[in-house]
This record gives sequence, structure tokens and C-alpha cells, in this order.
Amino acid sequence: MADSAKEIILQGIGVSPGVVINRAFLLTSEEDRYVEREIADSDIPREIARFEESLIETRKQIHAIQKQVSSAIGQESAGIFDAHLLVVDDRAFVEEVIRGLSTRHMNVEAVLRDVADRYADALAKIEDDYLRERAADVRDVTRRILRNLSGRSGSDMQKQESPCIVIANDLAPSETATMDREKVVGFATDLGSPTSHTAIMARALGIPAIVGLHDVSVRVSAGDQVLIDGNKGVLIIHPSAERLEEYGKLLETRKHIESELARLKDESAETRDGYMVLLSANIERTDDVDAVQANGACGVGLFRSEFLYMTREDLPNEDEQYAAYSRVAQQLAPDPVIIRTIDLGGDKFLSHVRTAEEMNPFMGWRAIRFCLAQPDIFKTQLRAILRASESENVKIMYPMISSVDEVKQANALLEESKQELRDRGMAFNEEIDVGVMIEIPSAALTADLIAPHVKFFSIGTNDLVQYTLAVDRVNERIAYLYEPTHPAILKLIKHTIDVGHEHGIWTGICGEMAGNPLMVPLLMGMGADEFSVSPSLVPVVKDVIRNLRYAQAEELAAQALASVSPKEVLDICRKLTQEVAPEVIEFLN
Ligand code: PEP
Ligand code: MG
Repeated sequence: MADSAKEIILQGIGVSPGVVINRAFLLTSEEDRYVEREIADSDIPREIARFEESLIETRKQIHAIQKQVSSAIGQESAGIFDAHLLVVDDRAFVEEVIRGLSTRHMNVEAVLRDVADRYADALAKIEDDYLRERAADVRDVTRRILRNLSGRSGSDMQKQESPCIVIANDLAPSETATMDREKVVGFATDLGSPTSHTAIMARALGIPAIVGLHDVSVRVSAGDQVLIDGNKGVLIIHPSAERLEEYGKLLETRKHIESELARLKDESAETRDGYMVLLSANIERTDDVDAVQANGACGVGLFRSEFLYMTREDLPNEDEQYAAYSRVAQQLAPDPVIIRTIDLGGDKFLSHVRTAEEMNPFMGWRAIRFCLAQPDIFKTQLRAILRASESENVKIMYPMISSVDEVKQANALLEESKQELRDRGMAFNEEIDVGVMIEIPSAALTADLIAPHVKFFSIGTNDLVQYTLAVDRVNERIAYLYEPTHPAILKLIKHTIDVGHEHGIWTGICGEMAGNPLMVPLLMGMGADEFSVSPSLVPVVKDVIRNLRYAQAEELAAQALASVSPKEVLDICRKLTQEVAPEVIEFLN
């Protein structure tokens, strides 16, 4: 049934295809969800008791985290949490909250937030780095106490009983990763961009999604009927009866094309004139393996292993990781499974390991930089991957490589990890292939220096575009500058592929560009050997490849590389895909 209220149409960026219609669930940020209310004198003892209990619980949780971090990273990192304990045990702080209950006659949540804000603001102004950092501790601990006061263990979203469309200002990749596919049928956010990890997760989960809607979270009210068209990036509040009918017809057409594409499942990714590439899939969770097989991908070209770390409250140990990696490897054997070592940082953080806030997290202490500085965490993962390599289809890939030196250091730690397993008498593939992501311009430009140390390159276009064009990949205000067809990007891709071939190693593309059916012929024509894309995009990519002749791809690439305009390149790409696979264009529209 359509809502009788007036239809409102909003345009954003469609990041995960599909159409869904459902009631809106408004997800506000955790801090906005705590209710502030007035209290009577007689309520004060109860509020004090709630506060004291939540402090005890908070102390217990901090001790538990400290223990975990200490065994995983070492005593020094666990020391960060001493500062959290100091906040909980600060009698002046605690007493000020208790006093505030009688003077302000507000519940403990309101008084605590107020006192904590004042403490944090005062600390933030002090001209001493150490004390200034304590402001973040106060805020962190306050959030934990508030959570304990409300008795919230999981998010409200998990408790939602019927299916809904989540509307939020923004979503963290870890929030998207833990969404229950049965309950969340779509989502839309004010912020975000197509290559943010939130968008990537949405595609992996097959949830239609739109980002960059600017103010959807204030225009939609809880319970409103909402239609999401993830292909066009259109969100409709209170869709009219005619609109619903129109979409009913569109869905039928799309379903028909989808079932035609599904027939390609067991076919190879081969052009009409017999040029073959490897078409594999990107995954974030072990459960995604089913989608890899269902969509007919040949193995996994990128396993974003950091999501194993992000969707839990502690660090996964070696055995747990081994179980996850070997499950994926065994299910897909003999097809290759490339496990990327953790790429934390940027827009992906661990909730339980606090790292200092950075001005430029995408250019900060992330990925291989974090791993080389935390060899215990890194080697735990390397040993787990090595053990899973017993099934021989497993390969290792390092993210965010910016120089050959980092590759050498990572390989040295890999050798240490191998020796540790030999000492334990554990089996692994001694000849395991190691590759690197080429996603920083300096790595692309020094591919010749890196090549002798690896067996393959995989171009991460999401970051390569971000770093080359100086365009933050998650900032929707400058999304118009994020152009994968920019001449600088095409030159770096071509250079990397050529250098790889000169050194006898293959080059894949695992950024979102590889899953864009308009760009597949271009990348093929530039010589890419492997495409790794979101499982749901495998059928359309395969369709384009199978309808193409390699000569057409080569010609397109030559034209594109001679072009000066990103838009012109996009136009000729669209023209070719439209010519060889019009059903794909129709499906995407
Ligand atoms: C990339 O940067 O293109 C990539 C595939 O890695 P991620 O999106 O996880 O940064
Ligand atoms: Mg990347």
C-alpha cells in the first residue's frame, strides 16, 4: 500500500543495486540515543545505585580488554587502558556526578554527559600533549558507562523484529558488516561515497543502498514508507501508487535479465575470440563464500581479512583465524584464495584497540605500517594464513605498500613465521605465493623494484585513485573529482601491468573499477590478467567479457590512453559496453 502523504524524491549515489520498499528505521548515533529526563528527590538514591553499578561493570570490562590486548599486542599497548581506569576511579569526577543529581534533578545519563563534557573540554585546552590526549579517554569511558547504564549490549538495530530500511547520517563499515541481512533490507545515508568500505560491504551483503543523500536522516521519520532504487541512487519517501506500479514492472524486467545472466555461472570469463582472464571475487566475511560460488566466480582475489577483526570485541587468535581461512580455502579449492593481511585504519577501526586520533587517517598508521610496527599481531595472522595454505590454493597479499623496503620487511616476518611453524612441526605450503597491492602511486612507479620480491600485483584502484588525485574516497563533497578514468590513473595502471609482464608476473585489478561493466573492456585492453569483483557483480562482468572481442578491448584501451579527458574516456567505454552487452546497461539502469 502506498502512503497517502506526498511523495518526496531524493537523489544520492547508488552504491549497491536493487530495489526495496519498506518501513524506515532511523539509526541515530549512540550518543544521541540516551534519554535525558528530570527526576524527583526520591529517585536520587536509585540513580546513584545505577551509577555505581555501571562503574563496577565498566571497570570489569576495561580489565578484560586490557588482558586481551596485553596478550595480543603486549603490556605497553595495554597500558593505554590504565588511563581509562583512572577516569572510572577518579573520586572527584564520580562525586561531581553524584552531586549533580541533587542540584540539577536530572537523571544520571544527563548529569554524567554534562560533567564528562566539561572535564574533556578542560583537558583538551591544556597545552600538554599527554593531558590533552586524556580528553579522548574521558569521552571513551563515558560512552562505555552510558552503554552500561542503558544495559545495551547490541545495537537497537539487532533487536528490530521486522524487516526495515536503515536511514542514518553515516554508517561505520563495522556497523554495516554486522547488519542482519534478514532484518535490514536496504540502507541510505547522508554521507558516504561508492568506494567507502560501508558501500563495499553493502554490495557484498547484496543490500540495496544509497549514500551521499545529504539530509535523508532528517527528512525521513521513523516508520515512513521508503523506496530505495540502488541502481539509480534514488530514494522515494511515501511512494505513490503509480510509482509502485512503475517499479513493479521494472523489477520484472530486471529479474528476467538476472535469470539470463545466471546461466553464465559455469562458463569461463573468455572473450568471443578466446582471450581468457581470471574472474574472481572480493569477500569480507567467511560466509561470503556461498555467494562466490553461487555467482560463478573463480576463487577469491581479495579477502579483506580485517573484517574478521572488526566484527568482534577482541582480537581473533591464531586458531580462530586459521579456522576461518581454511574454511574459505577448502570450500573453494582448487580455485585460488588471496588473503590480504589486515588493512586496518582509514575508515576501518577496531573498537577495542584505541589508536591515537589522526588528522589524515587514510594516510596514517594503517595496514602494512600498523602490521610492521605490531609484529606480534602480524605474525599471528601470517602463521594462521600459512597453516591454511596446506590446501595449496592460498596466497598472501600485503596492502598499502609504498616502497620495496616494506615488502622486504614483511617478507622477513613471513620467513620468521614459517620458521616458527617448522619449529612447532606444523605443515604449510613452503612455496606460498606472495603478492602486493599496488594502490599507492609510489608503488606503481617503483613496480620494477618490487616485482623481483613478489609473485603478483593486484591493483587497488579505490585507494590508487584517492592518493593519485588527492581525493578522499569517503568525502561525498568532492566525489565529482573521484575519476578512475583520469589519464594519470590509466597511465599508472598500464605501467604496473606492463612492468609485471616484463618481470613474468601477473597483475589483477581488485578495486571497484574492476566490477564496473563500463570499465572492464578498458582494463582488459590494458592487459589486466585477473578481475576481482564483488560476488554480485560477477555475472554482469562475465557477460561483458563473453560478448567482447579482445581486439575491441585493445582498441578502446589505445584510444583511452591517448585521451586527455576522463569524461571522454567514460563515454567511449559506455559506448562499447552498450554495443556489446546492451542488457547489462539496461540491467544497471
Ligand atoms: C582498493 O584500495 O582498491 C582495495 C581493493 O582495497 P580497499 O577497498 O579495501 O582499500
Ligand atoms: Mg585499498
